[in-house]
Amino acid sequence: MIIYEKAPAKINLMLDVLHKRNDGFHEVEMVMTMVDLADRLTLQETETNRITLSSQSGYIPLDDKNLAVRAARLLRQRFGIQRGVHMVLEKRIPVAAGLAGGSSDAAAALRGLNRLWELGLSISELEELGAELGSDVPFCVSGGTALATGRGEKLEKIPSPPHSWVILAKPPINVSTADVYGNLKAAEIQQHPSASAMQAALEQGSFTDVCGTLGNVLEDVTLKLYPGVARLKQVMESLGADGVLMSGSGPTVFGLVNKEEKARRICNGLRGFCEEVYAVRTLG
Ligand code: ATP
Repeated sequence: MIIYEKAPAKINLMLDVLHKRNDGFHEVEMVMTMVDLADRLTLQETETNRITLSSQSGYIPLDDKNLAVRAARLLRQRFGIQRGVHMVLEKRIPVAAGLAGGSSDAAAALRGLNRLWELGLSISELEELGAELGSDVPFCVSGGTALATGRGEKLEKIPSPPHSWVILAKPPINVSTADVYGNLKAAEIQQHPSASAMQAALEQGSFTDVCGTLGNVLEDVTLKLYPGVARLKQVMESLGADGVLMSGSGPTVFGLVNKEEKARRICNGLRGFCEEVYAVRTLG
């Protein structure tokens, strides 16, 4: 049997850090939504009991460090599975970009193996297992749009943004999420974006209010560490995107745009400035 799973990228419409917890994690409030830029994961039964992974991407580990492999190992160990699997990962989401590519691959592996190995696990059971792999994995299990709290694993489904274009621009910089959080002084954050204002904008289906409520407290840190990201943000704004924000810990900057013509113009304008540019749609 062969099973296919799509693993879409996420963007953060808002990201706030409330404080650092005693366990070392940060207490966050985030609104996350999926976009239609996706990796593709194929899961295939094998004769052996080994877990193997191949990918056309040269930028990701293929061994036990890969989050999809870790998801398979977790399921096998937790449920005493003896069967193996060969996974083929077609990577399209840029790596270490703030788009949760690895987390989405892990979530796709959990969903796919639940089917392949006939485990009968519910979505919330898969989300709980996902939390053991990474803070963004539970959200990626069912996708959509959610308010995430705790360290990102407590999810409340909320309405998706009105259909719009999302221009993703990934500068050629590797940003370490750990470094960004390490440089963040949670107690000194001046302006906290509002999760409730974003939730209200989404409930009203107001594209203008969604754009006006975008905010990410990690921007201050990443933009200071990497001035190239700050310049990219300015360029995206000057090209006329309706709302512009850095996703996650960066370095990808996204622009929300409600007209196709304008989206195309912004993409063309960005191409001289940044090599990796994608025009995608929000996923409802
Ligand atoms: P997040 O937004 O959740 O912080 P990210 O988009 O910044 O994630 P990823 O693309 O998930 O970052 O990659 C982070 C690191 O995880 C990479 O350096 C990579 O080596 C490792 N990794 C492990 N498995 C994967 C995978 N399946 N795809 C991409 N990266 C992976």
